[in-house]
Amino acid sequence: MTLDDARARDRVDPLAFARDRFSIPEGLTYLDGNSLGALPRATAERVDTLVLDQWGKDLIAGWNDHGWIDLPKRVAARLAPIVGANADELLVADSTSVCLFKLLSAAVAARQGRSEILTVEGNFPSDRYVVRGLADMLGLNLRTVALADLAEAIGKNTAAVTLTHVDYRSGVRADMAAINAAARTAGALAVWDLSHSAGAVALGLHRDGCELAVGCGYKYLNGGPGAPAFLYVASHLQDALHPQPQGWLGHADPFAFADHYRPADGIARFITGTPSVIALAALDAGLAAFEGIAMADVEAKAQALVRFFLDAVGDALPLHGPTDLGERGSHVCLVHDEAYAIMQALIARGVVGDFRQPNLMRFGFTPLYTRYEDCWRAADALRQVLDKREYDEPRFRDLKAVT
Ligand SMILES: *Cc1c(COP(=O)(O)O)cnc(C)c1O
Repeated sequence: MTLDDARARDRVDPLAFARDRFSIPEGLTYLDGNSLGALPRATAERVDTLVLDQWGKDLIAGWNDHGWIDLPKRVAARLAPIVGANADELLVADSTSVCLFKLLSAAVAARQGRSEILTVEGNFPSDRYVVRGLADMLGLNLRTVALADLAEAIGKNTAAVTLTHVDYRSGVRADMAAINAAARTAGALAVWDLSHSAGAVALGLHRDGCELAVGCGYKYLNGGPGAPAFLYVASHLQDALHPQPQGWLGHADPFAFADHYRPADGIARFITGTPSVIALAALDAGLAAFEGIAMADVEAKAQALVRFFLDAVGDALPLHGPTDLGERGSHVCLVHDEAYAIMQALIARGVVGDFRQPNLMRFGFTPLYTRYEDCWRAADALRQVLDKREYDEPRFRDLKAVT
């Protein structure tokens, strides 16, 4: 496995053209797009126009004249083909954690009399905190099982099931169709977290019988730091749910300023408050980077990049999670007791991944802009850091606030 092999792959990569849609610093090997997507070239101008020309010149008229009020809908329309859903089943708002709370609380309220929420071991901490807090607030029982046991564990007493589609550490991709089928049979509602799937794998929310889901805007969707998240509610379920908090923009007629709340029809009832227009414009530019690109090609390249990287690393370090790439998403974690210091040494060499507790180095492969060359460079740098024990240097051992 040589640099020439990697470059030969890049030359015949059908998605190679998409890298030009991003602004990536020269010489940087960026394998952290699963934590913060790279900056699309179109974003700065988009945000600039919105701030200087629209807000700056037209002020409040922008809500009508520049269609700010409909921006969540337009962004949802761009997201729809990326996740395999209809635009009117998606809402872009809030953070992933807040979206999860909104959907999960609405789901359990729609299953009154059932006393249990089910989740999966090792789920993303924020998701675990949210579901724990909700269960405590409502006096429900929270049961945590291994992913392999989840479908069987869903029973008559289960109000809702929540899990992450692609695990943030192991990269395991859950069987969405099977778990949704089991939930439906038992009369429970499944709420999926697509944070590590949306923009990385070929999701088919309809195909896989998905009813409720949330996901992150700043990872593979390239919306920028703290970009709004999204939520998905299948059409048939929308009017049966009564999301909280019931804010004014989810009202059927917000500008009637009515005394009593009356939910809007459809997905609009899931909006709580005023959309974050500047952030939505940035996310819109991030999603536009997927234009004309089939998610099947994105997923195929993700797997090929992961395979290339793992082959280039060889057996230097153990892989966390399944070796069958068909069961994975688009990132890998390698295991080493000095994972944090090794990652810091890699970052000093211009290879950026991240560290996840307790001993994992995580590398994310973002098919729109990751090259095979990046995979090779990362594996090469890793080999050198290990061979020279660069991670022993004290400067690589200070734990930063964001890892
Ligand atoms: C990144 C991530 C989140 C992010 O949550 P925010 O509330 O948007 O910060 C949530 N869930 C998972 C699984 C994630 O990977």
